[in-house]
Amino acid sequence: MQFSDLLGLLTTPWGLALLGLCVGSFLNVVIHRMPQMLERQWRADSAAMLELPHKPDEAPLTLSKPASRCPACGHAIRWHENIPLISWLVLRGKCSSCGVSISVRYPVIELLTAALFAACGWRFGTQPVVLLWCVFVAVIVAASAIDWDTTLLPDDLTLPLLWIGLIAAALGWTTLPLRDALWGAVAGYLSLWSVYWLFKLTTGKEGMGYGDFKLLAALGAWLGWSMVLPVVLASSVIGAVVGIAMKLNSSLREGHYVPYGPFLGGAGLAVMLSGPQRVLEWLGWT
Ligand SMILES: [Zn+2]
Repeated sequence: MQFSDLLGLLTTPWGLALLGLCVGSFLNVVIHRMPQMLERQWRADSAAMLELPHKPDEAPLTLSKPASRCPACGHAIRWHENIPLISWLVLRGKCSSCGVSISVRYPVIELLTAALFAACGWRFGTQPVVLLWCVFVAVIVAASAIDWDTTLLPDDLTLPLLWIGLIAAALGWTTLPLRDALWGAVAGYLSLWSVYWLFKLTTGKEGMGYGDFKLLAALGAWLGWSMVLPVVLASSVIGAVVGIAMKLNSSLREGHYVPYGPFLGGAGLAVMLSGPQRVLEWLGWT
């Protein structure tokens, strides 16, 4: 079997779905650990800046170390308990050692990633560029989930996504001309930046964070400037509906606001899957 055969197999929708399950399993680790890693880094940086003594009191934490453990009993997760989706089903969502339930979010993230990867396969066909769009999907899924949990959109995710989008356009990997990608990034950042300052100057409140500007800049770099407004419109409408619904059934945590990132990300994925042409037709802008 040659490399090109393998690549051909991997880029079929079924191959991509399988890849998505595995990537989704890794994204669960990123979603869980990245906020903790960032917080530790900020604490260490602040201590250094204030010239305070700082001893890292915990064992080092990276995406690969330490190996996954049950958060309740510390049971080390064995390889056969770590198979995406299957293990969760076999274990019936419970730790094999202490029986504490494992969040349904783990298989949901895996299934979501698998479904989105497969959808990329249908959208872009069996060609290597589909893997690039899978990178786009993976970063958005991770960033959205982290924003949902912590109202933070890490630069470590949004900025590489922006650069990859620009570089992919420059190399002609995506069909988007570099000029459209560049102005997409600019329009994405500046549009939300302006809304932020207008809101802040008129109400004295912060309606969103800088992470949102960076995420929309990245979406603009991948989807082009003409898709920035549709993404903003779709994400605002859905975000407002979800926000109001959460407020009504008071599931909104006290003092928290609904993070905007997951809606931006979701709108970006929807635009990517339907294609810019169809989006413009729906809006009647062609
Ligand atoms: Zn356990």
